[in-house]
Amino acid sequence: MKVEALDSGVVRSPRRAAEHQTHRDSPVRTCVGCRQRALIGELFRVVVVDGRLAVDERRRLPGRGAWLHPGPECLTKAERRRAFPRALRDPGALDAQAVRDHVAGGAPSETAPGHPRGRTE
Ligand SMILES: [Zn+2]
Repeated sequence: MKVEALDSGVVRSPRRAAEHQTHRDSPVRTCVGCRQRALIGELFRVVVVDGRLAVDERRRLPGRGAWLHPGPECLTKAERRRAFPRALRDPGALDAQAVRDHVAGGAPSETAPGHPRGRTE
């Protein structure tokens, strides 16, 4: 005698595969290091400030931005491929120290010293 499946309590949430959908408003960018597409939330934005690369933590700085995974591999790849000057349209020797610090330090907490909370506007 067989008991019918008793797993009525199991609710499988059907994951709607969003991978194949190309919503126009889906925030996806290409990492300049590994060239893979990822959600904006998984990447951080790099901009040029005074001839140096800077991490745009709020993703609000004007101008061109390059997107990168927060990992040393992608940063190394990006530097090796000269992806930053290309993506940012800045042929200068871009100092990537700030980006390196950002990657090495992991995700810094929001209480970075010396950063007034958006009072400069
Ligand atoms: Zn990457």
